[in-house]
Amino acid sequence: MDCIFCKIVAGSIPSKKVFEDDQVFAFHDIDPKAPKHILVIPKKHIASLADAKPEDAGVLGRLLLTVADLAREHGLGKGYRVVISTGPEGGQTVDHLHLHLLGGRQMHWPPG
Ligand code: AMP
Ligand code: ZN
Repeated sequence: MDCIFCKIVAGSIPSKKVFEDDQVFAFHDIDPKAPKHILVIPKKHIASLADAKPEDAGVLGRLLLTVADLAREHGLGKGYRVVISTGPEGGQTVDHLHLHLLGGRQMHWPPG
């Protein structure tokens, strides 16, 4: 499958890995939008949140708990933002589910 994030999981495209377990992979965003900008993805190809199935509930939970663990490990005790761009109007540019962990600066609302 021609999916850039599947290739990152497989190691055929390099990334700055920060975490990996049996289901989850996390790496630094190549174009950071905050002092800390980490992407947390399922190893399994799920195209978007809209494509997640009931049987993906476990991995979806693991993704969120990994974000919280990484935020603690990366010193984001004052807070952070988690973003899941979904579909064209959601601004999703890579069709493999990913959670953005953004922190290290004040976040604003509404986002762009
Ligand atoms: P989104 O636009 O919400 O779908 O997020 C996709 C994210 O993937 C963007 O923040 C990109 O900077 C990031 N990205 C794209 N290619 C790579 C890559 N090879 N390594 C790390 N991050 C990437
Ligand atoms: Zn993929």
